[in-house]
Amino acid sequence: MRAAVTEGPGTIRLHDRPEPGPPGPGRTLLRVETVGICGSDLHLFRADLGPSHDGLLPRVQGHEFSAVVAAADPTGDGPAAGTRVAVWPVRPCGACRPCRAGRENVCRHLQLLGVHRDGALQEHLETETSALVPTPGLTATQTTLVEPVSIAVHSVNRGRVAPGESVVVLGGGPIGVSTALAARDRGATVLALDPVPSRRDLLTALGFSTAAPDAADLPALLAVHTGPDGADVVVDTTGRAAVLATALEMAGHGGRVVVVGMTSQSAPTSPGPLPVKELDVLGVSCCTSAEFAAAADLVARNTAAADAMVSHLLPLAEAAAAVQLLEERPDEAFKVLIDLRPSPAPDDPGDPA
Ligand SMILES: [Zn+2]
Ligand SMILES: [Zn+2]
Repeated sequence: MRAAVTEGPGTIRLHDRPEPGPPGPGRTLLRVETVGICGSDLHLFRADLGPSHDGLLPRVQGHEFSAVVAAADPTGDGPAAGTRVAVWPVRPCGACRPCRAGRENVCRHLQLLGVHRDGALQEHLETETSALVPTPGLTATQTTLVEPVSIAVHSVNRGRVAPGESVVVLGGGPIGVSTALAARDRGATVLALDPVPSRRDLLTALGFSTAAPDAADLPALLAVHTGPDGADVVVDTTGRAAVLATALEMAGHGGRVVVVGMTSQSAPTSPGPLPVKELDVLGVSCCTSAEFAAAADLVARNTAAADAMVSHLLPLAEAAAAVQLLEERPDEAFKVLIDLRPSPAPDDPGDPA
């Protein structure tokens, strides 16, 4: 079978690999359909997150994907052959302190599909049956959006977003848009900021208030959105170190700041607003298995938005070009998907075969 292997920093090549055999108990063999390329994939591709990336390459990347069950779990548990599934990419140890506390997404020995173990940029993948979430009624591309949306579900849970609250989302990429969808689903009002006009157009089309972060009228817009008390919750999805200071500034007294974007950079930030406004600053890493299932439901309630987020479908042979597109053309590349389906398949819900 074909697999796109990130051989070393900056190099992806197609390899021919042996097909995986029939799955053992507790495991399922999947035929991969479509795979999203993510900002975090770019970090591993460049190996730019320092020691946490040591020894991870070569690797088959791809942690957000749709697949169809090719061979079901031999125990009879789990979805039948032909079922379309989303796959929770988190593989926790189950024994460390965060795992015992129900926070398996921050497992000390966390293994992520596509990062620590080979992921979905290959035609077949054998994995844990317990990680599969059937997505009846969703297309392959909509199913691929479940993983990025799951990060948003975890973000609004971490931020304790409540009905009627004002949320400012910094960054209008796929995670930013997903966060806006998740916050609106919880009954909050959302203002999303991004410097890229095409991203603001997408947010506007989906019914969100949006502005450029350097807009002259931003203070007035913020005042209208949050009222005099400032934002209840600010979610930083940008992965830019300097944005944390902005987030701390925009959050109101007693507010929450959720940091989702990953970076190895640093920028000066005064801790002053933390005690003055008694802010909660909350990090986000992946999501729990329950949140992943909730994300599948959220996508099902927002299929038009999921469709609107997909900007490109490219064949596996163009995986390197897909990464390049995401790096170099943020104005046109939104969610870039790799399509591994054998022939141009109709993207039919409920008819994955
Ligand atoms: Zn991702
Ligand atoms: Zn653990």
